[in-house]
Amino acid sequence: MISPRKSPIWHPFTQHALHGEMTRIVRGEGAYLFTADDRRIIDAIASWWVVTHGHCHPHIVRAIQDQAEQLNQIIFAGHTHDPAEQVAAQLLKLAPPGLDYVFFSDSGSTSVEVALKMALGYWHNIGVPRTRIIVMQHSYHGDTVGTMSVGARGVFNKAYEPLLFDVASVPFPAAGHEQATLDALEAACKRDDAAAFIVEPLILGAGGMLMYPPWVLKEMKRICEAANVLFIADEVMTGWGRTGTLFACEQADVSPDIACYSKGLTGGSLPLAVTLCRADIYDAHYSSDRSRTFFHSSSYTANPVACAAARANLELWQHGAGARVASVAAMQERLIAPFRADARFENVRRTGTVTALDLKAGDAGYLAGIGPKLQAFFERRNLLLRPLGNTIYVMPPYCVTEADLAEIYAAIKDAADELA
Ligand SMILES: *Cc1c(COP(=O)(O)O)cnc(C)c1O
Repeated sequence: MISPRKSPIWHPFTQHALHGEMTRIVRGEGAYLFTADDRRIIDAIASWWVVTHGHCHPHIVRAIQDQAEQLNQIIFAGHTHDPAEQVAAQLLKLAPPGLDYVFFSDSGSTSVEVALKMALGYWHNIGVPRTRIIVMQHSYHGDTVGTMSVGARGVFNKAYEPLLFDVASVPFPAAGHEQATLDALEAACKRDDAAAFIVEPLILGAGGMLMYPPWVLKEMKRICEAANVLFIADEVMTGWGRTGTLFACEQADVSPDIACYSKGLTGGSLPLAVTLCRADIYDAHYSSDRSRTFFHSSSYTANPVACAAARANLELWQHGAGARVASVAAMQERLIAPFRADARFENVRRTGTVTALDLKAGDAGYLAGIGPKLQAFFERRNLLLRPLGNTIYVMPPYCVTEADLAEIYAAIKDAADELA
């Protein structure tokens, strides 16, 4: 096929041969996006799970403006600055206890790469030959080669599979089958080469908004701890209130050895990520021997403007964001509840501010034929929803109103009437 398109831009996760014109957005405000052709769209997926307090939140915008005039980039090796220092100090207060150090990077994928390198570097530097990463079925940790290796193998990464490294995998803890996951994890942890277990706490996002309860998370941590296997919590999506608490691990009283945060770290305004770790992981790299240095950086590590946005985000969390989360979770529950009795849907579920439901419409999975039809339907209703195959999910910014949500769920019901 030869492309007739005029724009030279190659968009992410987009099959251009099947996709029409891109929707041109000129402005964002709160839960709304405004198009070049004067439509108002409700952003029901927080622009790919990043926007927490709303688009162009004035407090964050002001922080970005102020910082941009002061210092907008500085090499972070051998240098530091107040926005980074303050974000790091505040993060350590808010994160689960036991995390002592903060490494900055610029995307969720990179924060996971850093986590994997920290774990492998730890074992290497203390002279223990452990290199196997244990993962959970259906996981998603990013699109770089390392993060694809620890993520689910499938249509997303078929072409690259020969280059992905081997991992040990445990089944997803589906309701009623949790023990199989725990048994598999215990067996995998007993292998001599088990280095770390990486998992998305409570919700597996891109794998289909699959949810499991806090007690399973707690048990998984206990098993890893008993076997001395590092526990990496990938909270890139689940952080910043998504599961109802600031971080999902709180609900299971779990202190991970390494934690990754990104997406909502700047309230969804600028790219930034952090990887937090326990002191002994840092200490294993702390040495007068320079070969033990943690050899990782991004050009924009701890960019001051992004850090100022993160600092403003943390201030919002100290001033009422938690109450907004509770209110959105309650509204989500009220609106999703009727779908539990609708036979056209299955697995109707909610964790915190995230709801998901599977439309019964022939094939399932990411490439389910119904996916693009659903998306086009919602676009016509001026809603930004982006189903994962036949799985529709709602993950709004916390400034969303009950009327906005009601409009979203009415459209979901209408989509079933029209398409199922
Ligand atoms: C989105 C996501 C990532 C990757 O983050 P990017 O910023 O897109 O690189 C990693 N892990 C999880 C759980 C995610 O949801």
